[in-house]
Amino acid sequence: MSRNFFSVLLIVVAAAAQAAEVFDSIELEHARALRSAALESRLGYEITADLTTRIGARLAGSENDAKAVEWAVEMLRSQGFDRVWTESATFPVWDREFERVAITAPVHQQLVALAIGFSPATAEGGIEAEVVMFDDLAALEAAAPEAVAGRIVFIRNRMERARDGSGYGVAVAARSQGSMVAAAKGAAVLIIRSIGTSTNRFAHTGAMRFDLGSRRIPAAAISNPDADQLERLIGLGEPVRMQVEIGTQINEAYTSQNVIAEITGAVHPDKIVALGAHLDSWDVGTGAIDDGAGVGIVTAAAKHLLDGGRRPDRSIQVVLFAAEEIGLWGGRAYAEKYNDRIEDFQLAAESDFGAGPIYSLEARVADAAWPVIEAIAAELAPLGIELGGRTEARGGPDFIPLSSYGLAAADLRQDGTRYFDYHHTENDTLDKIDPEEMAQNVAAYAVLAWLAAQSPVDFGSGPGLIEAAE
Ligand code: ZN
Ligand code: ZN
Repeated sequence: MSRNFFSVLLIVVAAAAQAAEVFDSIELEHARALRSAALESRLGYEITADLTTRIGARLAGSENDAKAVEWAVEMLRSQGFDRVWTESATFPVWDREFERVAITAPVHQQLVALAIGFSPATAEGGIEAEVVMFDDLAALEAAAPEAVAGRIVFIRNRMERARDGSGYGVAVAARSQGSMVAAAKGAAVLIIRSIGTSTNRFAHTGAMRFDLGSRRIPAAAISNPDADQLERLIGLGEPVRMQVEIGTQINEAYTSQNVIAEITGAVHPDKIVALGAHLDSWDVGTGAIDDGAGVGIVTAAAKHLLDGGRRPDRSIQVVLFAAEEIGLWGGRAYAEKYNDRIEDFQLAAESDFGAGPIYSLEARVADAAWPVIEAIAAELAPLGIELGGRTEARGGPDFIPLSSYGLAAADLRQDGTRYFDYHHTENDTLDKIDPEEMAQNVAAYAVLAWLAAQSPVDFGSGPGLIEAAE
């Protein structure tokens, strides 16, 4: 055995000793039993398989959105939770009809494209114009309107692959703001390189951010090989022209539901450990990694607690959010409903990054609760999870609106090296999920939820937590 093995063993033993100072051995033994049960179970995968098979894609506001809500209520009831209920969220709805994107000069080539969420439609017959290319959104922002007016703007920025997915935030501005920026300069259409890391010929959709009333232009993402091709053609020096026709519908308002299930706490039923995922998906693929996986992971984790033979001290809630993809509408409704109960939240954590293995725990809690986080990390260490230190954890996208009130939150960071190969594409399907890696996720959420619920101290949600972080 290597020296390395012994040093790792020493760290694990030292961490376990620390955990024993925070939690009674009965709590730690229970957490370990949950961890083992979850690792052996495939329940999370089965739930995700059921959702993606029976319902498939579930764009917010679509018929399948309503079917998914029905499915979730039934599924959670059948697991035996103490309470299952829905809370409404209302939002504008966008619908894709078609997109046709082609290079028309100097050669004719059909491209693989997807309209960007909330893209307006083109006039019938589409738009044919010369293409002008920019390195990124900043370059477009710096451009003179004369260079852009009446043209098809192409933003070529590439998303870099990274374990933590950090390349996404850098690149995604082209998608979220490109249409408005290009519109302000009089451009006709926005085309972007897909915000994704795949070299396959799939386009990656996603939403644009916009203010109602602000001007937008039709916008689409082309597959990365098509973006490469377009760049090379432009590089030949001759004018390149494209033809773009997009059909979409925008409807004013639709009301969907956040679906919530609870294991009622035995000692502090009003205190909540909230495990989140989002129920909606894009209209392409079957929404398996985004976020069918999260639905399976957090539901299965809570189910293991339910079946573990002991009732938690604080309540555990599974919150399956509505309409995350098109603007965090479920998360906003949740924040509006619960911000006056912010102190009741022991912890919030959302799974919305596929089903790759978790490698780190990050948390935002009050100082007094940090030793508890360290003790939880010690029980996660055998799963290959490190304590990532104190960060600005927000608990995941749907908890962001509530986190601005001072929400104690944890991020169980997943390996996202391959996540953006499939994210928001026709290729987001169940086969991309490894059931064994998913079980590791379920085990981590079960351990985190149980020990957070049994913690000897509150994690400190409330305005004080915001001040402490500043
Ligand atoms: Zn998601
Ligand atoms: Zn998404």
